[in-house]
Amino acid sequence: MKRSLSWIAVLLILSLALVGCTRVQPEPPDNTDILPETDPEPALPEPDPYIILVNADNPLPEDMQPNLKAIQGTFKLEEKAAEAYLAMKEAAKQDGISLLVASAYRPQAKQEELYKNKVKEFIKQGYPEEEAAVVAATIVARPGTSEHNTGLAVDIVTPDFQRLIEAFAETPAAKWLAANAHRFGFVLRYPKDKTDITGIIYEPWHFRYVGLEHAKYMYENNLCLEEYVALFDD
Ligand SMILES: [Zn+2]
Repeated sequence: MKRSLSWIAVLLILSLALVGCTRVQPEPPDNTDILPETDPEPALPEPDPYIILVNADNPLPEDMQPNLKAIQGTFKLEEKAAEAYLAMKEAAKQDGISLLVASAYRPQAKQEELYKNKVKEFIKQGYPEEEAAVVAATIVARPGTSEHNTGLAVDIVTPDFQRLIEAFAETPAAKWLAANAHRFGFVLRYPKDKTDITGIIYEPWHFRYVGLEHAKYMYENNLCLEEYVALFDD
C-alpha cells in the first residue's frame, strides 16, 4: 500500500512538472489563419519638397531658386540631386557604363528660348501657329513647366549615343539607368506606358531626382510622379 501511494506521489509530481513546463514554455500561438495571404503594402514614405510636381498644369513658382552644384562642366543640379547623380555616375562606371549629361538645370529664361525655337520649327514645317504651340509643348515644356527649371532633372546620354531620341532606350546606358536609377533617388520621369498621364513623350534619357525612399516606392509600384503625388491627396 505504501509502495503504491509513493508511486502515485511520483506520478503527481511528474505531471505537475509537465504542467509547469507547459506553462513556462508556451507553444507559439498558431496564427497562420490571421497572416495576410500576400505581403502587406509597403508604407508610403512621408512627402517632402523633393516630390514637387512640375508639369503643364503645375508651373513652378517663378522665384524658386535651387542651391546648385556642378555635375559636369557648366551643368548643375540642386545640391542633393547633384551628389546623387555623381554617385550614380560612379556606380555606372564600375559596371562599365559611361554616363554623359546632355542637359541639367535650366533657368526659366532658357526654357522660354527652347520652347520658342521648337514652336518656330513646327511653323516652318507648315503647322498653323496655334497648333505649333501645342505640339511644341509636348516636346519642350512651356517656360516654368519644365522639371529642368527645378534643378532636379537631368538628361543623361552616353558618349556613343548622344541623341535625345527614343532609340536611346536600346543602349546599355539607358538600360542600366532604367534598372538602377532608383537606387540613387532618381526615377525615369516619362515612361513609355505613362505618356497619357504625363502628357510628355517617352523620354528614356530624362531622370528626375525625388530622393531614395520615393524613388524606390515609385519604381516598385510602377508609378509616375503624377500618380505618386496623387496618393498623398487621400
Ligand atoms: Zn529632360
